[in-house]
Amino acid sequence: MTHIFHRSPSSPPAIAVHGEGGFIHSADGRQFFDGSGGAAVSCLGHGHPEVIDAVVQQMHKLEYAHTGFFSSEPAEKLASLLASHSPPTLNNVYFLSSGSEAIETTLKMARQYHVERGEPQRRHNIARKLSYHGNTLGALAIGGHVGRRALYQPLLVQAHHVSPCFARHYRQADETDDAYASRLASEFEQLILELGPDTVSTFVAETVVGATAGAVAPVPGYFQKIRAVCDRYGVLLIMDEVMSGVGRTGTYHAFEQEGVVPDLLTMAKGLGGGYQPIAAVMVADKVVDAIVAGSGAFQHGHTYVGHPVACAAALAVQTIIQRDQLVQRSASMGQHLRALLTQRFGDHANVGDIRGRGLFQAIELVASRDPDRPFDPSLQIHAKIKRQAQQVGLLCYPGGGCIDGVHGDHVLLAPPYNSREGVLEMAVDRLGQAIDLVLNETA
Ligand code: PLP
Repeated sequence: MTHIFHRSPSSPPAIAVHGEGGFIHSADGRQFFDGSGGAAVSCLGHGHPEVIDAVVQQMHKLEYAHTGFFSSEPAEKLASLLASHSPPTLNNVYFLSSGSEAIETTLKMARQYHVERGEPQRRHNIARKLSYHGNTLGALAIGGHVGRRALYQPLLVQAHHVSPCFARHYRQADETDDAYASRLASEFEQLILELGPDTVSTFVAETVVGATAGAVAPVPGYFQKIRAVCDRYGVLLIMDEVMSGVGRTGTYHAFEQEGVVPDLLTMAKGLGGGYQPIAAVMVADKVVDAIVAGSGAFQHGHTYVGHPVACAAALAVQTIIQRDQLVQRSASMGQHLRALLTQRFGDHANVGDIRGRGLFQAIELVASRDPDRPFDPSLQIHAKIKRQAQQVGLLCYPGGGCIDGVHGDHVLLAPPYNSREGVLEMAVDRLGQAIDLVLNETA
């Protein structure tokens, strides 16, 4: 008997009791490889003794102090460490407890920036279809996840959505990457002109798309063209790396591979690696300067901003990532994982694409490869694969189900950065078993 209001009350999940390395053990004696690190959270795996020690020590020193009165040592040290990984113009840090809070914060920070600079008419936020930025109402409003928005549509503030950058499905047959990127940038520019060039506040995009489409990286040059349009019209560029940041894609920040620097950057999951709930917004100097020169204070805040224990956990996680060169390891093990996926699924009749960067890799399931056709969404292939994979001891992160009639089901893998080769082989093998079992049943 459970009193928790689980997501699906009629089928409550197993009880997790113990975690060690890449594995989670349940109360009924089963063991699972955490092949997606939850939702791309566990970058160091479970039970890391150094992170646990850091949390316990901080608990003994100081469990909480409100940021209305104090900063704390771990928060200051963590901010310095994050700044050392970031371009010189993007080294101001604002801490939060979740990715959704971080996104809400960027929208409000951008709004205040424009108001402080004497442009109160700037209010429009432009984001992309096939995107996910969180489940609180502001984050949901800018997200382009049709399924998650549908029920709450009447509550959502206005936001505008342009096409995603997803070459596999939306680049035209005779179009180069460059021409495709230019087409998307001009769609964005056209929308700015329609809304009124001095009324747009932000453009928000995941650097590498996670939940809605499964590890979709942009074509080369896309973000540079978007950055240029933002600069032309005074729009702030917000890059959402809640899922793809902190080494997940093989560089510390995913945007490093795009040749641009955002004005506001969100980070979350890999920041605390699951040891504590923590997120951060990295803020450009020009935003801080405008607020300092104007009213002098950011009009925002939450009770647990800069929580000392969460910051201590994240500081330990980030120190270990740096010391053990785990960003480089995410890049090299990512190549290994990609090779394994290609070996296992490269010729699979129902795998239409294998994609991703670093240890952020996905496969896309198709009903047929030629012609390229997604499964009927009512089959919920991705959800069945998730359940079947769990049966064979693998946790993976599925999504899709024909969100827009074009792009179908996908399964995302995002294992810990310190995963060994043999474990990745086992994960791909279990995923293969699960997919074949589901497809045999569906046929
Ligand atoms: N942004 C992105 C890109 C995400 O993937 C997520 C969560 O999956 C969020 C924001 C929201 O983060 P949270 O669930 O911590 O609120």
